[in-house]
Amino acid sequence: MNRELLLSVRKPGRYVGGEFGSVKVSGYNDYRVAVCFPDLYEIGMSNQAIKILYREFNAIEGVSCERVFSPDTDFEKKLKENGLFLYTLESETALKEMDLLAISIGYELAATNILAVLESGGIPLFNNERKEEDPLVIAGGPSVTNPLPFGHFIDGVFIGEVEDSFDRTLKDLRDAKRSGKSRVELLAIIDADENMWTYRKHKEGRIAKKALWNNFGTRNLTNLPVSSISAVQDNGIIEIMRGCPNSCRFCHAGFYYRPYRQKKIDEIVEEADFLINSCGYNEITLSSLSSGDYSHLTSLIKALNKEYGERRISFSLPALRINTFSLSLLEELSHSRKSGLTFAVETPEDSWQRSINKEIDKEKTIEILKEAKKLGWKVAKFYFMIGLPFSYKEKEEESIAEYIDSIQKKSGLRINVNVGTFIPKPHTPFQWAYQLTAEESFRKMVWLKTYFKQNRNVKLSYHTPFVSYLEGVISRGDERAGELILSAYRRGARLDAWTEYFNKDLWEEVFREADWDVEAETCRERDLNEKLPWSSIDIGVNNNFLKYEYRKAAGARITSRCKTVCNHNCGVCNDTVLPVDNTKEYINISINETEKDSKQEKNTDKYLFKYSKTGKAVYLSHINVMNIFQGAFQRCGIDIEYSKGYNPKPKLEFAHPLSLGIESEYEIFSAFLIDCSNDEKVIVKRLNEKLPEGIVVQTCKKLRPYIQGTKKHSLMSLYGGSQYALTVSGTMTADNLYQDIENFFLEKGKEGIAEVKINIDEKSGEELIIDLPETGTKLSNI
Ligand code: SF4
Repeated sequence: MNRELLLSVRKPGRYVGGEFGSVKVSGYNDYRVAVCFPDLYEIGMSNQAIKILYREFNAIEGVSCERVFSPDTDFEKKLKENGLFLYTLESETALKEMDLLAISIGYELAATNILAVLESGGIPLFNNERKEEDPLVIAGGPSVTNPLPFGHFIDGVFIGEVEDSFDRTLKDLRDAKRSGKSRVELLAIIDADENMWTYRKHKEGRIAKKALWNNFGTRNLTNLPVSSISAVQDNGIIEIMRGCPNSCRFCHAGFYYRPYRQKKIDEIVEEADFLINSCGYNEITLSSLSSGDYSHLTSLIKALNKEYGERRISFSLPALRINTFSLSLLEELSHSRKSGLTFAVETPEDSWQRSINKEIDKEKTIEILKEAKKLGWKVAKFYFMIGLPFSYKEKEEESIAEYIDSIQKKSGLRINVNVGTFIPKPHTPFQWAYQLTAEESFRKMVWLKTYFKQNRNVKLSYHTPFVSYLEGVISRGDERAGELILSAYRRGARLDAWTEYFNKDLWEEVFREADWDVEAETCRERDLNEKLPWSSIDIGVNNNFLKYEYRKAAGARITSRCKTVCNHNCGVCNDTVLPVDNTKEYINISINETEKDSKQEKNTDKYLFKYSKTGKAVYLSHINVMNIFQGAFQRCGIDIEYSKGYNPKPKLEFAHPLSLGIESEYEIFSAFLIDCSNDEKVIVKRLNEKLPEGIVVQTCKKLRPYIQGTKKHSLMSLYGGSQYALTVSGTMTADNLYQDIENFFLEKGKEGIAEVKINIDEKSGEELIIDLPETGTKLSNI
């Protein structure tokens, strides 16, 4: 690990691994897989697919799986300048040394990141340039159900759900490695997998079928790395239902993950317990495409709140459908205000809603919002789309404005609105539809923005039209879209999903220079009989059903939701594949009432902890360390006291925040432990088992109880100073050293240095090695 390099880039904690729960790589002879989410660490660590892959693959005998995420632009540049390769977080192995790179593609805008990961990892960009020793590159995920734009970069695309099906292929690849098979033979294994799309198969007209995990539910609950630096979603996620019973005609996931399968309630509880007690999460999202459709949702939330509410664990739900929303559910959600109220209405007029097969009762919406206001909510968030088929030619923006105005006035809540542009997705009834050009979309967005400019109760934001257009280019594109991605990548496009990185001019230039009309080809309505670029993929839903649905949309006709006895014949269900409902209403979880009552009498003691922060932990900020200790206490089942009020915080007091980049052998903090009868040594041992690499608690001491009427001292007020040892590198004279040190502390705003201990290499005489101000070791607090 190149310390100097890491300390010169933004958020170096992204590149060091060592998190609690990450695996220790031992089997270097195993079949070595790197799972990759092609975006920055904090996005990738929030992604559920990566967690599933990591657990699945590491559970296979003879397979070891590590993680890699996209490098930020500064890190990518530094790797290149130093002749280094992007590496896995667990064992710091260059990607080119791995056997398999498995990329989960969650959105089209990750396209250039994929190329950056390949090239930074030392893997040739084009599959036909890869040699015997290069890893296989396999992609998967909802955004590659039209793999053609990626066809020349990827060796294969796995279509569908990895559980079980991809495991089998992975075992075959492992066995092939053990018996020394060649790259050609490994590619033949991929080709033979009926769920794998490859460019070769596509050209031959061979179909790749979607893999379906017909046994959806809890698997092993192990090996889940908990992010040490703040992730975009620092919460535990439980997938309570896969698929969705509603057939919203624009929704790719709704068709791709058919049929819907609800997780058993006991499995949800088991997962909640694991995420809270073993991983240390205190916010849990009950996620699915439409969580409101989960049977007995209210009683589930009620039971979870009853069990975990006292421990300040909150449960939230992503966007809900008004039609499945009940007032009792609202009441349960009000126990945990962290759950925002979010409604995806999509389009305002009744007939347009019927066209997209998503009816939202406006009167019920207003009723829910009024009740929410009574229960204390102040804001609700709404999502709309413009450019939907059969409404884009109308004054849809004016209709959206009217709708928002009306619900805001009638409910009295503040309304945040986000408007996106419809993008036709493969494998949906709208796959043939027209897409608004960036300019058409922009005009509508500006109209809406201007309309609400003076309205303090409505905050309107919109998804950048050009970005939606770019998504459309890739979403329905063919090999030519792949050429555009490559051209943009070569010109420096990276992290296109990030506003601060997205370079519209660069992409416009790429489109201008293409030898085909990118806009006309992207946005045009397709003929129903046209051969589409994703025609070599069968996700189970037959084409005639999609065409029928498209015609029904034109007539604003509704298709009823999926159910176990269904006559829609979309092609997915059969004798063995059926929707799965949770039939059990939850009754009780585990803790008995007497146990809970005994917790009313709380005995709280203050403890002082001494810990060291070295190695990988050097790249963690002070705030990261505070969060890590909070999670570690929860993981080892030691209750700590929280502040009172609306947003309680753990009462952890740190004496002296340590800057990122500085090691310390001696840091201190205090915490109030509740009903802790453990011996101090046992507390230290238990904590150390739950901390990430580099943070080690050395001692812990119970402090004398505070005596009423005496002065209270904060830890910081007792802090006298620190002793530092500086690691010296580079050349300078001894006379200058002290001056430099003084300047360093003055720069940092520190005065009154009590003592500076300098380790000088005796052999080098007056020639000293110095590296200031980035590195150093804090030896102790005085
Ligand atoms: S066959 Fe019916 S229940 Fe099954 S996925 Fe299709 S529409 Fe839904």
